[in-house]
Amino acid sequence: MSEQTKYIFVTGGVTSSLGKGIVSASLAKLLQARGHSVTIQKLDPYINIDPGTLNPYEHGECFVTDDGAETDLDLGHYERFLNVRTSQANNITTGRIYQNVINRERKGDYLGRTVQVIPHITDEIKRCVKLLGKNGSYDFVITEIGGTVGDIESLPYLEAVRQMKWELGINALSIHLTLVPYLAAAGELKTKPTQHSVKQLLEMGVQPDILVCRTEHPLTDEIRLKVARFCNVSMENVIESIDAETIYDVPNLMADEKLDVAVLKKMNVPYEGEADLSSWNDFIWKLKSPTDLVSIGLIGKYIELKDSYKSIAEAFIHAGAENGVKVNLDWIHSESITEENVAKKLSHLDGVLVAPGFGGRGIEGKIQAIKYVREKEIPFLGICLGMQCAVIEYARNVLGLEDAHSTEMNHNTSHPVIDIMEHQKSITNKGGTMRLGSYPCHLEKDSLALASYRTEDIDERHRHRYEFNNDFKSLFEANGMRMTGVNPESKLVEIIELPSHPWFVGVQFHPEYKSTVEQPHPLFIGFVEAALASRNVEAKSEELVDF
Ligand code: GLN
Repeated sequence: MSEQTKYIFVTGGVTSSLGKGIVSASLAKLLQARGHSVTIQKLDPYINIDPGTLNPYEHGECFVTDDGAETDLDLGHYERFLNVRTSQANNITTGRIYQNVINRERKGDYLGRTVQVIPHITDEIKRCVKLLGKNGSYDFVITEIGGTVGDIESLPYLEAVRQMKWELGINALSIHLTLVPYLAAAGELKTKPTQHSVKQLLEMGVQPDILVCRTEHPLTDEIRLKVARFCNVSMENVIESIDAETIYDVPNLMADEKLDVAVLKKMNVPYEGEADLSSWNDFIWKLKSPTDLVSIGLIGKYIELKDSYKSIAEAFIHAGAENGVKVNLDWIHSESITEENVAKKLSHLDGVLVAPGFGGRGIEGKIQAIKYVREKEIPFLGICLGMQCAVIEYARNVLGLEDAHSTEMNHNTSHPVIDIMEHQKSITNKGGTMRLGSYPCHLEKDSLALASYRTEDIDERHRHRYEFNNDFKSLFEANGMRMTGVNPESKLVEIIELPSHPWFVGVQFHPEYKSTVEQPHPLFIGFVEAALASRNVEAKSEELVDF
């Protein structure tokens, strides 16, 4: 395509949670499936430098990129849809924008001048948007603006959009996502909220080029015409976005509505033919025609907000489809598990995943659950804190180190089997200081990890301060636990396994971040496969008993 990168801005109106991230990712998928290179960026209007310091209850999962950026969970959707890696440049917050400007002010870059929202903050926003398009590295940069039009904190972003549209002309485009609610009492879809939302955008000098209307019912031509007329867009640029069975249906729904054609036409890019979604649709087919079902328990302490474990839940969808099964996730609160009820809560499961987390809340429930699945030979995957809990459980119940713990929960334990990394000890700042991003790991022969990955050297993403304490390594190894994945440089333990168990794997890294529609994660595939196998063994033995 042309050297000039094209910029597409996606704003949201009327209410939050309309699914801007999914619409942006779906549009990106359609453009990619037409042969264009695309990236997506999220601009978040809050003041935190990044979401790394946020409680998951506030903002859902914190997604981590290869380069160690702690980012909004929408970046997970971008990667899962596009199978293209994102980086720090793909998620910028107001905090970071101000920090960059203030750092420059202190250096004296603006010497003699007053530093203001316009032009300095808006220029920094524009710089962060254009950074991704530099040297024409992408044909399209889609920038999703967090929040809802009308929020005070979104104003500088909308001003930056206005300026970029003015500067770039046909090479910038604005898509506004709104809600067309259905009033049951009137039996009608209502366009007024959309009209008001567009009016607010117009007050800021931004005329949307395309409107994507979220709706529970199909938009009639009459409604489309009304929206078009009141909002100054052509009727073909009023796109219906009807509620979908799964987020993975949205690219097809957007293709049916010709969102990609509307964008390309507006930006003067050839739009003949259709997006080639054949590999995407292979996945959809597998997703929708499972031949079996497995039940997997997801044990965590933030389960009231399922978005806290977004990438894990999506990785199971990918791995389920790959195995031709539907994965039923049973969300279990770690604080609710006790020695007395653990069998009742877990015995029906085909597999158990113990989730990542921070702090001591719910930790004993996780340890109880791991003891149960270890003894009952139920397939287990422990991620980060989940792996650390597996180490603690083994130390206490197999090695007989009764007070074994992680120093995160107990500074004074005499058996710190999980301990803070040496270089972490002097760190006092909380933000962005964990072991973050991609690190290499070498896999041992004859391990479940190697059987899943089918390659000896892998890279996985990290987000933690604590590690397996290598002082205890030989004691664990002499007593049945294998360290099957180790960082080749630092020798830090990345993967643990129990060869005596059908499928027991703990990983210090976060495999869930790298699972995509096109490349479901090997460990999740292996885990679901093991869960299926264990279910079948159980079903067979039940049959035998009946007989
Ligand atoms: N709290 C643990 C640590 O910091 C685990 C972190 C996690 O599960 N992401 O090491």
